[in-house]
Amino acid sequence: MLQFFDKEYPFGWLGVLAAVAPSAEELIYSSNDRGFALHSMRSPQLSRFYLQVAPDEDIAAWPDERIWAELAARLETVPGWSLATGPLVEKGITAMRSFVAEPMQFGRLFLAGDAAHIVPPTGAKGLNLAAFDVTVLTRALDAWYSSGDAGLLDDYSRACLRRVWRAQHFSWWMTTLLHSFEHYDAYDRRLQQSYLDYVCSSEAASASLAENYVGLALS
Ligand SMILES: Cc1cc2nc3c(=O)[nH]c(=O)nc-3n(C[C@H](O)[C@H](O)[C@H](O)COP(=O)(O)OP(=O)(O)OC[C@H]3O[C@@H](n4cnc5c(N)ncnc54)[C@H](O)[C@@H]3O)c2cc1C
Repeated sequence: MLQFFDKEYPFGWLGVLAAVAPSAEELIYSSNDRGFALHSMRSPQLSRFYLQVAPDEDIAAWPDERIWAELAARLETVPGWSLATGPLVEKGITAMRSFVAEPMQFGRLFLAGDAAHIVPPTGAKGLNLAAFDVTVLTRALDAWYSSGDAGLLDDYSRACLRRVWRAQHFSWWMTTLLHSFEHYDAYDRRLQQSYLDYVCSSEAASASLAENYVGLALS
């Protein structure tokens, strides 16, 4: 039976590409009372930034100066570290969503990548999942066209879904750990901060995050 699993989050990401060298060698994930922010990089000359905003936010309300001021307010939390700024060459807002179509097959139609499942980008899993689906599907199509064996095609959805659901959970977990939620009271926020502190200070917890972030060998 075909089933759809869907979850929407009460925020989106305002993403910008800036013509400026990254301000750090590593990604910076910031959980801030003003909302989540992410510093990432595309090349030695290009940086990519994200800000948590309302899902229906109007991009016109975010001139470049406001974006840089908000990024600085959320990211410049360590004394002595500051954000390098430059011209913004691209801006856009993406709503956050989780989605799975199960099974990833309908008759002779095989779904792969975002057509079959979507994750909020906090865990950086979407493109990786798409590549895994296509690798599995390519092998199955090769077996079918070279020998008429449908075994791998019949197993395609099962072979992908275990990894898909692990990535769904990891992406949801990273998202709830790092974003601000309007319905959170002071108690909820303290719990969130306590868990973040645990992830950053416990070898076992940080190893678990790293294992999921790099990708588990599930099939
Ligand atoms: C802000 C943001 C940050 C992200 N960061 C990461 C990250 O760091 N790491 C990661 O792994 N993933 C990341 N992702 C997720 C990743 O971009 C997607 O999961 C991935 O691109 C999915 O690949 P896909 O080929 O399934 O779909 P797509 O990349 O969406 O490709 C589908 C293609 O089909 C085309 N198309 C659509 N309809 C038609 C049609 N009718 N006819 C012909 N062509 C059509 C589209 O134009 C598009 O080119 C991020 C996503 C967002 C929104």
